Parts: sequence; C-alpha cells; structure tokens
Amino acid sequence: MTFSELGVGEKILKAIEELGFERPMPVQEAVLPILFEKETDLIALAQTGTGKTAAFGIPTIQNLDYSNQNTEAVVLSPTRELCVQIANDLTKYAKYIPECTVVPVYGGASIEVQKKALKKGAKIIVATPGRINDLLRRKYIDLSNVKWAVLDEADEMLDMGFKDDLDFILAQTPDTKHTMLFSATMPDEVARIAKNYMNDPKEVTIGVRNSGSANVRHCYYLVQAKDRYLALKRIADYYPSIYAIIFCRTRSETQEVATALIRDGYNADALHGDLSQAQRDHVMERFRCRNLQMLVATDVAARGLDVSNLTHVINYNLPDEIEQYTHRSGRTGRADKTGISIAIINLREKHKIKAIEKIIKKKFEQVPVPTGMDVCEKQFYNMIAKVERVEVKYDEINKFTSEVVKRLEWMDKKELISRFVSVEFNRFLEYYKNSPDLNVKEKEEKQKIDKKKSKVQHNDVGMARLFFNLGYADKILPQRLIGLINDTCDNKDIKIGKIDIMERFSYVDVDGYYANEIIEAFHGETYKRKPLIVEAANARKAGADKKSKKKQNSLPVETPKKKEAKGDKKNKRKDRNKDTDFAPKKGRKGRSRRGENFF
Ligand code: AMP
Repeated sequence: MTFSELGVGEKILKAIEELGFERPMPVQEAVLPILFEKETDLIALAQTGTGKTAAFGIPTIQNLDYSNQNTEAVVLSPTRELCVQIANDLTKYAKYIPECTVVPVYGGASIEVQKKALKKGAKIIVATPGRINDLLRRKYIDLSNVKWAVLDEADEMLDMGFKDDLDFILAQTPDTKHTMLFSATMPDEVARIAKNYMNDPKEVTIGVRNSGSANVRHCYYLVQAKDRYLALKRIADYYPSIYAIIFCRTRSETQEVATALIRDGYNADALHGDLSQAQRDHVMERFRCRNLQMLVATDVAARGLDVSNLTHVINYNLPDEIEQYTHRSGRTGRADKTGISIAIINLREKHKIKAIEKIIKKKFEQVPVPTGMDVCEKQFYNMIAKVERVEVKYDEINKFTSEVVKRLEWMDKKELISRFVSVEFNRFLEYYKNSPDLNVKEKEEKQKIDKKKSKVQHNDVGMARLFFNLGYADKILPQRLIGLINDTCDNKDIKIGKIDIMERFSYVDVDGYYANEIIEAFHGETYKRKPLIVEAANARKAGADKKSKKKQNSLPVETPKKKEAKGDKKNKRKDRNKDTDFAPKKGRKGRSRRGENFF
C-alpha cells in the first residue's frame, strides 16, 4: 500500500515525500486506515523507532479544522527531547499546511518563550506533562476544544510518576475528544489508563505484545561480576565500528564505566542525572552526530535520546525492572535495520534472562566472550578492510611516494603489509598478549559455590555467621554492609544480626535461612573493584588458623570496633543512587529492607 492509497491527503503527501518516506511503515499501515475511516480511540503497542510519530501525526494533522484558531490536538510525551523531536516531525509533515501551528512546551526551558509561542496560536501542542500542567494552571493553555489527545510512550510517562499530571491534563479536555495511546509495553498501569480514559478503543499491535523489535538479536555473555568491565572492552574491541548505548544501573556506575573507557582510549562519554542540562545536551549532540561511539547512560537520562542506527545496546547491568529491558533493546534494530542487544551477566543473573525471554517472547543466545586472539583477528581484518576502502589522493601524495618506494624497495609485499599493519595492530597484540579467558565455566563455578555453602552452620537462634573480606580499610561501616547485602540479594527481607568489623574483614550474622543465598549472590562480585569473598565464618577461621600457625604475629590481632548494625533508614532505599533527576515519583514497593540488630 502507498500513503496515497491509505488516504493521506496531497499536502501531507508532498511533505513526506520530500522527507523520503517512500512506503508506509507497518504501524502506519495499521493505524492510518483506522483513523481515516472513522475518528476513534486507539491503542497502539509499538516501539519508538517504528514510525509511530507519523502514525498518529499524519491523521491528526489531516483531521483538524483549520477554519478556527483553537488548540485541537495535544500530544503528551515523557521527556523534553522526545517532545521537541515530535514537534519537529509534526511541523515537517504539516509543511504545506501553514495554519497547522505546532508548539512544543517542556520543562527545563524558559516558560516565557513558550508563553509567547502559545500566544501566537497553537493548533497542536506537544508537551511534557509537568510543564503543560503548570501552563494549564496558569491559564495560558485552553484544552477545552481539543479533538485529539495523544499519549506517547504512555508506559514511560507512568514509570516516571506522571500519573497525577495525566489525570489533571486529560480532565481539562472535553469528553468528545478521541484519545490515542502509544506504548512500547502494556503493563497493568497503562491498561488501567486505557480503561479509564478511552472509549471502546481499537487496538493495534506491531510485533508481539511487549516484545522487542523483530530486528534485534538478543545475546548474553556469562562472566564473573568482577570481569564485567573487561568483557565490555572486549566487545568494544571486537566490534570496531560499534555505535552503542551502554546501560548502567546507577549514576555512579555510569560515570565510573565512562571514565574508565575514556582513560583506556575509547571514544565514549557518560550521560546521567548528575550532569547539568547543558552538559547532557552537549553529550547527546556529540553522540547523535557520531562524534562519540559509545554513550554510557542510565535509563532515565537516555530516555530523551532519539538516535537511529545504533549497532548495539549493551546492558552493562540488567535493569532492576526487567520490563525496562524492552525499552533498552528497542533502541537498536530500528527502521528496518538490524541490531544486537547484549547483556553482560553473571551466573546469578541467569534467571533474569529467563524472565526477560518470557516478556520479549524471544530466546537469548549465549555468546562466548571473544578471546584476546578473536579480538586481534577481528581488528586485523578490519584494518585490512580499511586499507581496501580508503580513498587515496594520488595527486597529493605522489610527490612523496616515489621517494618512499625507493626507501622501502628492499621489502617484499608481505613484509611491507605486515609492517604497515603493525603500526596500528601492535597495541592490540600487546594488550591481549596472555589475556585471560573471561567466560565463566558454569560447572566449576557452581562447584565452588557449593563448597562455600556446605560450611554454613546455624546457631541456636537460627542465625549463621558469614565472613566478608571487607573491613574498615575499605571504608566499610555496618550500614554499608547491610546496604551491600540488600543490594546484592534481590528482593529479600533478610534479618541481619551482629556485625563485627575489623581492619580488613568483617563477620556478619544473618538469618541462617538465607546464608547460602547470600554466599551465592556475592560469588564473583566486586566492591569498588575489589573481588569479594563471602563465605561461612567457620570455614574461613579453620583456613586462617592453619596459615596463622606458620605466620604467627604476621597479622595484628584485630578486635571489633564497637559499632554494630542499627536499623538504618538510608538502607531502605535500595535505589538511592539511582538516576532520579527527572523526578520519577513511583515508589519502589516491596524493595525496602532493614538491617536489624537482634543482640
Ligand atoms: P519514530 O518511531 O516516529 O520516532 O520514527 C523513527 C524514524 O523513522 C524517524 O526518523 C522517522 O522520520 C522515520 N520514518 C517514519 N516513517 C517513515 C517512513 N514511512 N519511511 C521512512 N522513514 C520513516
């Protein structure tokens, strides 16, 4: 079907042809005929990048009444970047309908400028919920004549805590309007919004419900938690033309990974909520125009980033809410391109992969982390391919080459190639010389964990004492230890008793029921890059005793400092280091845990 056959009018047809839209994308093919045939409420489950802006934008522009100056359409989107993007797109589609004025209003920019733009007239307002709410309350916007309300990325808006704003905004629109809801996923909250605000909506699903894009390959690398960064570097080196977003869980992790990549000579930068808006804009612009190859980002900060052609999405750590994975992976494989979504996981996270597979209705492939030799081989052939493709400016270099040809005459062809390639290639060979295999050998690891677990002993009150190789020297306090246990063992309400912290290690009494789980959870984990050892305290003592017989007095006898665990409110928020700069208000139910002192 062509756009014209779907019912798109001449003026819009001309504009989109100029944009190079040759044929409708699937979401447009599904949505346009419905909305052209009858004005109706509509739910479309489609990822960003599938062409959904045109799917709701074209019929909206075509169906408005341009004989008056009322605002007749409002589009709500979660972030300012998306808001600006949508407004720009709609303006382009309406290029030959000058009466169709599109005004974006969003937070983080001058409200005065936006007020002025609104005063001139806005047929369509594209807005973030917070800012339009503000303008509505100040009576700068009148939505009483709205015919179309569009909720774009509804799941993201709810995720970011905009539910009350949406309620208020939609209450300002007349009951006669039609509502379109676009969402990548259909969690219960979105279904509820649909039920509350929509009237017998038509439903369109592009791809499988809650699924990722069909063009995305989902892979995971199984490594020790401490090797995550090394695995990331291998991936970056293995794909020399990588153009990727690397997702981290927290702002500090994001900054840490980006700083390490920059230090190691990669073309990368960080995007997170500790940066000012101007800094974020700058980083996003550099990434958009591909001056940056890798952007290390939190989920929240990356929301507003609209970039096509990503080759990879890398989950440096999987998101806490696995639904979020769909949003992450949906950033690659857009507009008929293929992409790869990679998760770097440890043994303990395998269950998360299973849970994600259920949501996306696709299987992950376990891919071995490239060995040093794999990387070198790939880089080698990449260099050769570059040589084959490079444009040679013969006129300009001829004056030098004759001299050089004479100088290098003594080398044969193979020698010459080897030397030229080595100029670049040696650093890879050097770096990857003797590089370890990062792949986890599942069987061996499980045996190691089982061995550690077998030593756990419970006391009279059902508590078990665990050894942690972290002490005051690591700037560890009881609260931090409790926080670490809470963070590392997902979603458990683990009782914690006496905590003895020494200079270089600690003992923690934990609910015996969870002792094995804690040991397993910490296996292969790191704390500030230090590989962690967590095991039954008695196992450690027995081992330590044997050694200490040989090296008596070599270790000072440590007595615990008088600091014990108190229920610490701070630790209730597992996500206190999360990127919350865009003010998500959603509570994290069921995740708060306390450390309790039973002694
Ligand atoms: P969206 O999902 O609206 O963000 O669109 C993703 C990208 O696809 C944008 O860059 C659009 O300009 C582009 N696009 C939308 N529809 C078409 C089409 N029919 N043909 C080619 N490109 C399109």
